[in-house]
Amino acid sequence: MRAPRCRGVRPLPPLREVIAAHGLNASKALGQNFLLDEQLLDRIARIPGPLDGATVYEVGPGPGGLTRALLRTGAKVVAVERDRRCLPALAEVNDAADGRLTVIEGDALAIDESAVAGDGAHIASNLPYNVGTALLVRWLGGETWPPFWQSLTLMFQLEVAERIVAKPGTGAYGRLAVLAQWRSEAKLAMKIHRSAFVPPPKVMSAVVHIVPKAAPEGVSAAVLEKVTAAAFGQRRKMLRGSLKSVPRAIEALEALGIDPERRAETLRVEDFVAIARILTKDR
Ligand code: SAM
Repeated sequence: MRAPRCRGVRPLPPLREVIAAHGLNASKALGQNFLLDEQLLDRIARIPGPLDGATVYEVGPGPGGLTRALLRTGAKVVAVERDRRCLPALAEVNDAADGRLTVIEGDALAIDESAVAGDGAHIASNLPYNVGTALLVRWLGGETWPPFWQSLTLMFQLEVAERIVAKPGTGAYGRLAVLAQWRSEAKLAMKIHRSAFVPPPKVMSAVVHIVPKAAPEGVSAAVLEKVTAAAFGQRRKMLRGSLKSVPRAIEALEALGIDPERRAETLRVEDFVAIARILTKDR
């Protein structure tokens, strides 16, 4: 008879000891602020919902705190880490999880994550602050929808998290909010005090949870990105000025009855979608 598959993680040394044993003194250049509190890490790993048997793609496992918590849910984890000093510690985590962890040494910006994690993967990460927004914009982009991922559970600096979930008319509302909300539900799932990290960063953090929803019909993501980049690139200007560089955008505003003297931050996500739909049709 086949032995039942083990879903747990056998006991491992505390993360603080792992960091000391492997000399993982935090590198500022790599955005290393580690989370060591297992209960907090388990709470983050529960945000995507049940993960037993699912695949999770993790950027930047570091010493493996969130990785362990994800593996404790019963998930398989595919992780990409740029700092090779972390690899021996992660090999120990893999042993304790009966081979459910695959670690790729490399730069997350240079990896085709849909190929390594596969269709239907969840993405969960305490993102390095210097590549976090670029990765998010990539995961939210593309003409194919739904995307390869089922959910994103991502830690950002609080100020960035607030921009992702922001509503029109607020100072935080901009390009990131439109890209995160036009065909996804984006929620701020948890705020995390700076003191939870080693070393503590200067600012507070938050976990954002994003799930894809049906994409509006007839809208090219590339066109929407171009419109929002122009509109919010000069957010103090009236749309008449900021959208001048986008061919036929002013005519689209007129066709929709949107006053070109308004500023980008007063438009709803649906308004940007409607503008992009007209420009997509015109292409
Ligand atoms: N997951 C760990 C935790 O929660 O304690 C570490 C998170 S730390 C904020 C970010 C991690 O991303 C570090 O381990 C760092 O080495 C790694 N990293 C930084 N830039 C990266 C990149 N371009 N590709 C992959 N990993 C990267």
